[in-house]
Formats: sequence, C-alpha cells, structure tokens
Amino acid sequence: MSSTSREWIRQPIIVVMGHVDHGKTTLLDKIRGTAVARKEPGEITQHVGASIVPASVLKKIAEPLKKYFPKLQIEIPGLLFIDTPGHELFANLRKRGGSVADMAILVVDVMEGFQPQTVEAINILKEKRVPFVVAANKIDRIEGWRPTPDAPFLETIRNQSQRALNLLEEKIYRIAGELYNHGFEAERFDRVRDFRRTVAIIPISAKTGEGVSELLALITGLVQQFMKKKLVTSSEPAKGVVLEVKEEPGLGTTIDVIIYDGVLRKNDLFIIAGKSKPVVTRVRALLMPRPLQDMRMHEGRFTQVEEVYAATGVKVSAPDLDDALAGSPLYVIPDETKLQDYLRMVSEEVSELRFKVESDGVVIKADTLGSLEALLEAMRREKIPVRLADVGNVSRNDVIEASVVKKSKPEYGVILAFNVKLLPEAEELAAREGVKVFQSNIIYHIIEEYGKWVKELKEKEVEKEVSSLVRPAKIRILPGFIFRRSDPAIVGIEVLGGVLKPGCNVMRSDGMELGMVVQIRDRDNVLKEARAGQQVAISIKGRIMVGRHVDEGDVLYTSIPKDHVTMWLTKHRDKLSTDEYLVLREIIEIKKKQDPFYGFTG
Ligand code: GDP
Repeated sequence: MSSTSREWIRQPIIVVMGHVDHGKTTLLDKIRGTAVARKEPGEITQHVGASIVPASVLKKIAEPLKKYFPKLQIEIPGLLFIDTPGHELFANLRKRGGSVADMAILVVDVMEGFQPQTVEAINILKEKRVPFVVAANKIDRIEGWRPTPDAPFLETIRNQSQRALNLLEEKIYRIAGELYNHGFEAERFDRVRDFRRTVAIIPISAKTGEGVSELLALITGLVQQFMKKKLVTSSEPAKGVVLEVKEEPGLGTTIDVIIYDGVLRKNDLFIIAGKSKPVVTRVRALLMPRPLQDMRMHEGRFTQVEEVYAATGVKVSAPDLDDALAGSPLYVIPDETKLQDYLRMVSEEVSELRFKVESDGVVIKADTLGSLEALLEAMRREKIPVRLADVGNVSRNDVIEASVVKKSKPEYGVILAFNVKLLPEAEELAAREGVKVFQSNIIYHIIEEYGKWVKELKEKEVEKEVSSLVRPAKIRILPGFIFRRSDPAIVGIEVLGGVLKPGCNVMRSDGMELGMVVQIRDRDNVLKEARAGQQVAISIKGRIMVGRHVDEGDVLYTSIPKDHVTMWLTKHRDKLSTDEYLVLREIIEIKKKQDPFYGFTG
C-alpha cells in the first residue's frame, strides 16, 4: 500500500432521469458515442455500470463553444455517466441523507412536456438535493425544424425559420412553467444569469446530436463552478455504493459498485449490507470491461486491474456476496481493529430503512435497499404510515402483519410491493384473509392504485353509513284508501317529498309518534322505497288507530332520530336532494318544539 496520500479532483457522477420514451437511452448512447469517437488513443471510456466522457473529449467539444463560453477551462478529469437511466438504479445510488449522484439531467420530450415520471423524478431529485439541468429533447420533431447533425444549439437555431423558433419558444416556455409549479425558476440556458437560482433548460436532440455539446459543456461548467470542493478525493480507503448484484459465469455472485471516494485495491477488506446481516469480505478481483477491440483476442468481457480510483464503476468479485444487497453502502475497512465500528455504522444505516414498528400502517417490500428507500420516501410524501419495511419477496409473515392492521384500520391492512414476487404461500393467505397486495415496478403505479382503492373503500364506508340513516320523507294519507285501521294500520299514501323506506318511524305534523312503516306496496309488489309523487300502500305498526290518531288527508313525516339529523347536517349534507333537504327543515321545525337542541350543530 502506498503511504503517501495524494489528492485529486474526481469525475462528477451524472445520472439521466425522465419519463419513459422521452429519450434517456438515446441521449446516453449519443454521449457514449461522442466519447468513444473523440477520445484519445488508450483512453478508457467504458466502466462497469457507467461511462466516462474524458477531459480530452470535453475539451474538443467545448472548442466550438469558446465564443459562447470564453472562460470555460476543463479542470475535471471527465464526467462519469451512470449507464442505466431512470429511477431504478438511481435509487441504488443512495448515500445516507442524499445521493452519490452529483448532478442529474432531467430529460423532457419537448413535444409532450411533463409526464408522471418527470414529476416523480423532480420529487426524488428535490428530496435527495441533487442539482439538475433540463434537456428539452427531440427539438428535431418541431414542425419545420432543419437539423444540422451534432451542431451546437446556438448554431443550429440560426438555420431555423421564425415559425420553428416560435414553436420552440412556446415549448420551452411551457416546460419552464411546469418547473415553476414545482418550485423552480427556469430559463433557456443562454439566458440564465445566476445558475445557482435558475434551472437551465438546454434544447437538444438526442437523435441528431444538436445541443448535446452545450449540454456537456454546461454540466462541466456548473460542477467546476459550484462543486469542485465536493469532488476532491484522496488515496484513502474507498467508499462506494452497490449498484447491482449480479451472477457472472465463472465468477459466481459479483457486485457492480460505484466508487465515489478514495481507492479500492485487490485484497482490501470491505463491508456491505446483506439481506440477513452485514457482509465483511475481501476483494478477490477488480474487473473492468475489456475494450471492444481487445475482446476478440481475449476470453471474457472483463479484464482485471489491481486498483481503481474514484470516481469509477467497477465489478467486484469476492467470497460471500450471495447475500449482498443492491443500494448498500460499501466501505473499505482500513484495519481490522476498526471492524466493530464499521459493523455498527452499516447496521445503523440499514436499520433506518428496514424496520418494523408496532403501529397501524402498511407493509412495504422492495427488491433493493435503494428502491425500499424510494418507496419509503414516497410513503412519507403521501403521508401513508408504514408498519413494516423490508427487502425481499412478499412472505406469509408480511401477510400476517397486514391482516393484523386490517382489523383496526382496513385502509392500512395492505402490502405495497415494488419489483418483488408474491410467494405462493403468501398469495394463498392473502386471498384467505382478504389482504390486498399492490405490486408494480413503477412506484407511482403502486401509489396510484392504492390511492384509488382507499378512495373506493372510503366511499363504501360512507355509503354504508348513509344507508343506515333514516331519510326525510313527507307523506299524505289519501282519502278513501283506508284498508285497515290498526295492528297494523294499512293506508294508501302519496309521497309529497323525500324518500320513504320501510323500517322508519313516522310521526304526525305536531310531532306525535305513530309507529314504524313495516311494508310499502304497489298493488302486489313490495317496494324498497317510495319517492316524491308515488302513490303506494303502507302498513304502520304501533300506537296508531286511523280515525282516532290520524285521519284521511293527514300529513305525516318520518321521525328522524336526533343523532341521524346531526349526521345529515354535518357529514352527509351532500347526500340529500334539495327536495329531501326541504322536508328535513320541516321535520326539524316540528321536533324542535319538543327538543330545542334537535338539529343543532353548534
Ligand atoms: P427512454 O425510454 O427515455 O430511454 O427513451 P428512448 O431513448 O428509448 O427513446 C424513445 C424513442 O424516442 C425512441 O424511438 C427514440 O428513437 C426516440 N427519440 C429519442 N430521442 C429523440 C430525438 O431527439 N428526436 C427524435 N425524433 N426521436 C428521439
């Protein structure tokens, strides 16, 4: 090991985010293509899980931009792009309280504007405090656009018609508006005065390459100006993050790691989080992709190296990685006496995410530590309490946890599962217990589906409550339709207002109680209800004798219990028609004579 410590500025780690089909992959391909085509001989651009745009390429790209950015000197050794775009791997770039990513490119299709995953990406970037620029992509699709392949944006706009420029302006303006709605000031990059306060929008076409050089130059300028300190690293023991856990033929389980600090060497002792407990092991081999031109001469896709420096993406082969967890931190342990400290540190970090609390909340499961964290953050944002959070497939035990909650809080007695399987015995139990499992590999789908379900559940509850309340109704006994005087009295009536249902009590217009409506009939048909205007026969059981207590032509009302009236007036006012509400007011006036607090809602 070298004893002299040296310092250097590392490559900033850049991620590409955005809605599906907005052009993330195409942009990364374009950037990689540019890097490969314009690099110096011997320069390596391909890492594991990442690609580098070396300083030499940045210099060449920046050359034609000199007139726009006269002060741009390249001081960083390059840009390190994470190869897989989107939130999945981004989630695994986690670091306590933030992200390993230094900066993000948010790709937005100019023709489509903001879409659900654009918003999701913004929320994630905000939460993780990752600065970003917006690539307004697919400008070549603007009507009448005349592309100049790979030209800087500021040059290609000189060849455009006024109409195409106006259309572009409109679209950029719309994106700036969307950003504003999410709390960001934004401007086209060449109009930004203060990059600390304004998000830069760079119009590009990932397909034609227009604007891509400015995008790269701008990122370079921004990181150099605002995060140079953060990029200083030294030959200290490495810190990294496990991006992916992968089986490799002949190597067994390996981990793809992004090293963001220090140096990782062969035989280094390191620690990562495991599914069951932290894993402490030694680097057996450090593997980098073999340059394309060498592939024909050598076996295998990888070549071994003795050490790697931040920032880099590297495949680590080591014993005992079967239990490794993607999204886990990786620390090199400088000497074995410190092992306990590192074990504590990793356990603490992981237990912030994997936990079980004894409270009413949902069960969440995810495939990696990173996605679990992303799901937890989404829960926090949506104010959904969590009872249990863990990595792994949905097990029988998870269903038991959810079914316990279901008894007291049905809306939380569910499992939200991101990118994991539902084990057969869990599926069986969930079906038996009526525990809902929401599964997807897109977080917002899980939240959306769950939200819809909760809404339906609440609506059903309201419906149930409303149907248990006595509804207001006003009826009149029809002259000549007295079928039976008492026990039960059977009379023909007309409903004057509201809805009459069997099971409710009726009273006279002076408030005297008469008894309960047992049945409503229309000739031979038994009815569930009778509405205003209907003429039906009803039977009334109680202290009622037609001729003594009531008579032909009398008006009766449903006798609504006091607590029902309060519910109607406070919670379910919207469930009454105008007609019913007017009848309710009459009933309140009658009842108030006996109980001044009837219908009083304070
Ligand atoms: P991702 O899902 O965000 O990675 O999107 P892709 O990179 O796969 O792109 C989705 C589709 O849009 C593909 O058919 C691309 O060819 C197309 N596309 C991407 N960028 C551009 C662009 O700048 N212009 C045009 N015309 N098409 C593009």
